[in-house]
Amino acid sequence: MRVWRAGGPRRRTRLPGVRIDLHTHSNRSDGTDSPAELVRRAHAEGIDVLALTDHDTTEGWQEALDEAERTGVTLVRGIEVSCRFAGYGVHLLAYLPDPTYRPLQRELRRVLDGRNSRLPATLQRLRDLGIGIEAEDVRAVAGETAAMGRPHVADALVALGVVADRKEAFDRYLGPKGPAYVHRYAADLETMIACIGEAGGVSVLAHPWASRHNHSALDEHGLARLTEVGLAGVEVDHEDHDPAKRAGLRALASRLDLVTTGSSDYHGTGKTGHHLGCNTTEPAQLERLLDLAGCAAAASGRHTPEVLGVSRR
Ligand code: AMP
Ligand code: ZN
Ligand code: FE
Ligand code: FE
Repeated sequence: MRVWRAGGPRRRTRLPGVRIDLHTHSNRSDGTDSPAELVRRAHAEGIDVLALTDHDTTEGWQEALDEAERTGVTLVRGIEVSCRFAGYGVHLLAYLPDPTYRPLQRELRRVLDGRNSRLPATLQRLRDLGIGIEAEDVRAVAGETAAMGRPHVADALVALGVVADRKEAFDRYLGPKGPAYVHRYAADLETMIACIGEAGGVSVLAHPWASRHNHSALDEHGLARLTEVGLAGVEVDHEDHDPAKRAGLRALASRLDLVTTGSSDYHGTGKTGHHLGCNTTEPAQLERLLDLAGCAAAASGRHTPEVLGVSRR
């Protein structure tokens, strides 16, 4: 058993042959597996290190941790925070922050409240389009989520027989250009990167060059600016990045000395083409990330989550 203790002594660990997936969702946000099911599936599929990164919530952490300890999967506790930069939505993967840090809690609450308050307006737009949908229909499919959002509205539309799947719901109604799209609050990206550092964690930009983002703002200049406020890395290998984007982003990350990660963004049956481990992170990159997290934790003095692990099974 090896222990990486954020803030503890920095030690060089070797993780040869380890499979690492640093971006997944459970049903505490918009995935379809419970946190325990997600960890069991990761174990069954030979993933050694798994990060749970639900949207805007840490609700799934404890259940995932309990199952990780049972199965021997190494769990990295994370959050995918909904942020805004240059007027566009950007997702920030925050790893190992102290979840009790008040400014972080307050900001996540604001984002979650923004999700909840958007729901009635979304449903009204759908009703204006002639679709008979009520809040009850969404609650009925939302299960145990702490982060109700468009994916759950999409699931309700599937249940009502309006569309075939989530993708069709986003394409026809809920996407940014769709007739039922309603704006919601998101955290300021630079403020959130600083906040995650203050909470003893590290920040990695999720799928920065996915087409739905304004990645012209996330060019070399933009990423350099974010690096100055504490950004640690970028998710390079993601299904929303084609080979050219991956190569370009990897080169840029190298120039800016950013950590590069690869992940599935698994959502269970909620998102097709994102199966667990379809992209993975190199062990040396995870080690850099954990070292940076250790430094952040030491500087913050906060009680940050540990990463307990066995290197191989
Ligand atoms: P929200 O955070 O409520 O605005 O919903 C956005 C989430 O919906 C994203 O984080 C994705 O996980 C999911 N999503 C976005 N587009 C699609 C799509 N075309 N199909 C399925 N899920 C999607
Ligand atoms: Zn999602
Ligand atoms: Fe995302
Ligand atoms: Fe995600």
